[in-house]
Amino acid sequence: MPVYKSMVLLLRCRDWSETSQVVELLAREVGRLRCLAKGSKRGQNPFSGPLDRWTLGEAVFSLGHPDRLATLMELYETDRFDGLRRKLPAFYGASLATELVMALVPDLDPQPAVFDLVVRTFDLLAEAEAEASRALTFAFAWRLLALLGYGHRLDRCVECDRPLDTDKPREYSAGLGGPVCLQCRPEGKGKIHHLTAKTAQAMAFLADADWREVRRVRLSRGTAGQMRDVLAASAAELAGKELAAARYV
Ligand SMILES: [Zn+2]
Repeated sequence: MPVYKSMVLLLRCRDWSETSQVVELLAREVGRLRCLAKGSKRGQNPFSGPLDRWTLGEAVFSLGHPDRLATLMELYETDRFDGLRRKLPAFYGASLATELVMALVPDLDPQPAVFDLVVRTFDLLAEAEAEASRALTFAFAWRLLALLGYGHRLDRCVECDRPLDTDKPREYSAGLGGPVCLQCRPEGKGKIHHLTAKTAQAMAFLADADWREVRRVRLSRGTAGQMRDVLAASAAELAGKELAAARYV
């Protein structure tokens, strides 16, 4: 079986047996995969286990048939993003980010830019003030959608490309994947979300701005609520998944 060495981020860890775990992880050079970490709950093991999600490290694993579990052979932990476990807003942000990655990133599809985005976001969430967590989380979400090819600019109609007035409220169709003009407003193609001009401007800003700027943004409950609805509808549309952590962000 081919053996790989890659930076990995653990997304979910579950017990497999008395002594072993199954780990869902994102490998920078390989993509998302599930690994058996044999003996990870024993006293002495090559992973410093038991393994916990949101651990970053350099891993060695063997990968056989894509339908079978890979085997984690070694893991050298480099970061655990402790701040994510200490602060509730950061915890919910990282939980939502993890759900999005597991729902939208395909198996065994190498996406180094997605990997770097998740690690950067975890780093920022772990260190940031609690009030910045919402902005960081939504900035992550819009950037992830864009990297996966689902992003759409908010100043043009997703159907006819007509420019939209950025000082006016926008109507957003998760079914079509972007804002729509009045002429293109779909009939029966899923729900339309109404975004205030402020929310649409904030979404565009978070998708694009330097992280230092993003960290200074304080999203109001109302603005975050509109973003949450669009994000939840997009995840449902793209992956048929409900985002359990969305209502806490
Ligand atoms: Zn249109």
